Amino acid sequence: MHGRFQRANLAPEGFTVVSVYDDREQCHILLRSRRPMGLCPDCGQPSRRVQSRYLRRPSDLPLGGRRVVLMIEARRFWCDAVVCRRRIFCERFDHGVLARYARRTQRLETIVHHLGLALGGRPGAAFAKRLMMPVSKDTLLRVVRRHVADQCDELNVIGIDDFAFRRGQTYGTIVCDLERRKPVTLLPDRALETSRAWLARHPSISIVARDRGGGYGEAIAKGLPDAEQVADRWHLMENSSRAFLDAVSKSMRQIRHAVGGNVVDPKLLTCAEKLQYEGYLRRQETNEAIRQLSQTGASIRQIVRQTGYSRKLVRDVLRGQRLDVFRTRPSSLDMWLPWLNERWEAGARNALALWREMRSEGFVGQSGVVSQWAQRRRLAEKANQSGLARTPSARVLAQLMTSARDELVKSEAILVAVIEEHVPDLVAARQAIGEFQSMIRCKSSSQLNTWLESAKVGLVSSFANGVARDLAAVRNAIVSPWSNGQTEGQITRLKLIKRQMYGRAKLDLLQARLIGAI
Ligand SMILES: [Zn+2]
Repeated sequence: MHGRFQRANLAPEGFTVVSVYDDREQCHILLRSRRPMGLCPDCGQPSRRVQSRYLRRPSDLPLGGRRVVLMIEARRFWCDAVVCRRRIFCERFDHGVLARYARRTQRLETIVHHLGLALGGRPGAAFAKRLMMPVSKDTLLRVVRRHVADQCDELNVIGIDDFAFRRGQTYGTIVCDLERRKPVTLLPDRALETSRAWLARHPSISIVARDRGGGYGEAIAKGLPDAEQVADRWHLMENSSRAFLDAVSKSMRQIRHAVGGNVVDPKLLTCAEKLQYEGYLRRQETNEAIRQLSQTGASIRQIVRQTGYSRKLVRDVLRGQRLDVFRTRPSSLDMWLPWLNERWEAGARNALALWREMRSEGFVGQSGVVSQWAQRRRLAEKANQSGLARTPSARVLAQLMTSARDELVKSEAILVAVIEEHVPDLVAARQAIGEFQSMIRCKSSSQLNTWLESAKVGLVSSFANGVARDLAAVRNAIVSPWSNGQTEGQITRLKLIKRQMYGRAKLDLLQARLIGAI
């Protein structure tokens, strides 16, 4: 819809433009209300009898790069109602356009508010000046604070958690409205009494999500005894994983014993050497295949196409540049490894004697190659005999034991198998934790009591006892749709705002910027 621009469009709703004039810096717009009468604020009776006029000069949105000052011709009316005690009243305008006593129109106020939210006091003020709506930093902050005070929704479902003002030193508490997905308030500390008092002032709350640590459980029980508590699912998962890790740590002695007694398999000792040898054989096979193809008259291009090896590799093989083109560090020892292993296991431990034997059989390498091999071999044996050196940390073991079998490489799978065979308590613990986590994933708490009975006696008993102490909240965590995950998200936002404020954030302003933005 096209319409010619009219002067009247400059005025906010409910006003007519009397005149417009501007100098180089400012644009002045003289306005008058369209209403013929005013309403007495005391008795509500309309009055048309004007007592006097005066000018209000609120700032407004900029126009064509100039600051705008509205000049509103406001009236004072006589109240003629007999019963009314008021004789004169001032004209009031629509609150959505110009609030009582306001020095900015509401449309400008909205922009100022958002500038304050986005940038804070000083940077916001500097930016506002560039936007031709000068406003002091204190005003910006005042506007931000004022908007927070306006919000008051009835709360039903909240999440509560702590956050760090200064890392590790002082903590505050954040409360979020989980239904409306927004933060509600910040409390200056995480003391039980502070949160209890706040909760007690909001009796409409019926569900509170909180994590398992801290005193929030107790604060909720005291402040809102009828509210349902929901433990945090993420923390439950994390706590249960930690419980299994603790179980592994407690079993480390048995694990070392089991691993030390079983993995020292002379065949596994030379695993690395064997792998090297297998690689060597594989390379020989490739070379042989390429050479055979070439003898049947195939061109390099055809061989590349048939075998899938690179052109360079095929060419190198055919030119006889090294039999061993794959290796970055070829060793003359490779093809002697099976023979060496056999002799070593037969008890021949003298490297020099072994080398002489090899030389008489046609080995062309230096004696040093053989003595280095013998040295490595001895070290490997020593490491295995102590057993300790090859047992991974509890954290690594816990991870291996809870990984799917097909994600493990062979040596890891063997390790897990040995532990499972010799430390059955740990298998039971893993089973218990697995069941607990699957209850959370499937949102089914019907097995919780049975689970508690069986888990209370094993390696994860302290975790099970913790769950038993907080049973109602844990049960809710499993079945309830509410979770504290949202609150964690708000804490992330809070940290971002806090950082923008260079750590000078006062609680109320931090709260204003966090809450006002939504
Ligand atoms: Zn009146």
